[in-house]
Amino acid sequence: MEKIIIFDTTLRDGEQSPGASLNVYEKVEIARQLEKLKVNVIEAGFPISSPEQFEAVQRISEQVKVIVAALARAKEIDIKTAYEAIKNAEKKRIHTFSSTSDFHILGKFGDEKYGSNLEEKRKTVLQMSYDAVAYAKTFCDDVEFSAEDAGRTDIGYLADIIETAIDAGATTVNIPDTTGYTMPFEFGNMIAELKRRVKNIDKAIISVHCHNDLGLAVANSISAIQNGARQVECTVNGIGERAGNASLEEIVMALNVRKDLFDFQTDIITKEIYTTSKIVSGFTGIIVQPNKAIVGENAFAHESGIHQDGMLKNRNTYEIMTPDSVGAVKTKIVLGRHSGRHGLKARLFELGYNLTEEEIDKAYKRFTEIADKKKEVYDEDLRTLMGDEFFKSDEFYHLEYLQVNAGINLIPTATVQIKIKNEIVQESSTGDGPIDAILNAIDRALKIKPKVEDYHVRSVTAGREAMGEVTIRIRSDNKSYIGKGVSTDIIEASAKAYIQAINHFSNKILS
Ligand SMILES: [Zn+2]
Repeated sequence: MEKIIIFDTTLRDGEQSPGASLNVYEKVEIARQLEKLKVNVIEAGFPISSPEQFEAVQRISEQVKVIVAALARAKEIDIKTAYEAIKNAEKKRIHTFSSTSDFHILGKFGDEKYGSNLEEKRKTVLQMSYDAVAYAKTFCDDVEFSAEDAGRTDIGYLADIIETAIDAGATTVNIPDTTGYTMPFEFGNMIAELKRRVKNIDKAIISVHCHNDLGLAVANSISAIQNGARQVECTVNGIGERAGNASLEEIVMALNVRKDLFDFQTDIITKEIYTTSKIVSGFTGIIVQPNKAIVGENAFAHESGIHQDGMLKNRNTYEIMTPDSVGAVKTKIVLGRHSGRHGLKARLFELGYNLTEEEIDKAYKRFTEIADKKKEVYDEDLRTLMGDEFFKSDEFYHLEYLQVNAGINLIPTATVQIKIKNEIVQESSTGDGPIDAILNAIDRALKIKPKVEDYHVRSVTAGREAMGEVTIRIRSDNKSYIGKGVSTDIIEASAKAYIQAINHFSNKILS
């Protein structure tokens, strides 16, 4: 069986999902879980883009043993910065890229620097790609080159640029379908054609990076594997720019379930898939759709009577893989207020969270608050708790006090007190409903008015005492920011979620 290299880009492309913003702590936690899942490469970020990106890549490099990749444009300063961020990693990779399609070359590259027509510009990009790989090679042996928008690039030019990158020393050459435009047979043919045309192709591993704009990212990745690709770039839950990337769990399970068709294997520990999905969704705030393959809430639910009956007689009738194989078993372990700090720590560890003593203290404090209100605390509650705002140590605004009046024949009114550094501001406002009143009062107190793009409330577990998780997405300065809040009281959860979204926005401004 041949091995398929799983290159995870949840922390780079995935983090580019609208609204997803992860702090350094959360990125390191996700990286640790990815290592447990046994991905082969973690693309940890784009170090030149911001000081936090740099720090996150650096911290991850110090903590995991798998290959850590850092992204860099085909510029010396990017490449040098990428290397600085990963230099302490046990295994490191510089990933550099150039745009190669006519759309990109004509749209992005100015005449002065790159030449006055397509022909000249293509030549400049070719040279630039060579130079970038050769420069990266002076820092580390493992260098990946990507031809951005390869899916819409002329095959002759694409073959030239790939050959050039390999000549310069690239050990992996990535063929991205950046816009999610290609069809599976077409993309597969493209890989086969490159294998025929590129003379030195046997000196590098062919990688693919597919986007899901037409819902074909996984199909395209598999078609590419059948035609010679040996690395796939993917993300947990399929998150990423626009419609997202190829989903890691779907590719892995497709190869796994259909072993009868494929002679390929991955190193992935499939039982870690469910936990990884939960951690990524909890920290990014991006909810997994219920009908999502492999990790959706309904992926293993059998609703109709005929299906249930069939399942009871023989699971194979309607099940091609077991929930257990991806770690999606609903455990019966329940914690309560008497469970203690040690019990909590042990359960969190089993769920994939490695906390320091100080973090355990924080988690335990929140746990007892919740256990007081809801008696039985399930795994889902703990996972939600871990994705909650209490780990955001960079909190700039903090909700100190909240009072809401609402009812029938009553004008909804809210009063909030918000702590800003050492100062406390208080404001009140009315609204169309209690949530609107809270948001208005917070806006007044902070003298801002972001647009609310999305508001979700979901019950974490079943039952009347269930915790409510509120996700709010706001828009300000043309960018989206997600905030989440958890409480047994959804009014309080809403206020916390809104403040957290504003904190994310403020962090961007302050840094
Ligand atoms: Zn991408």
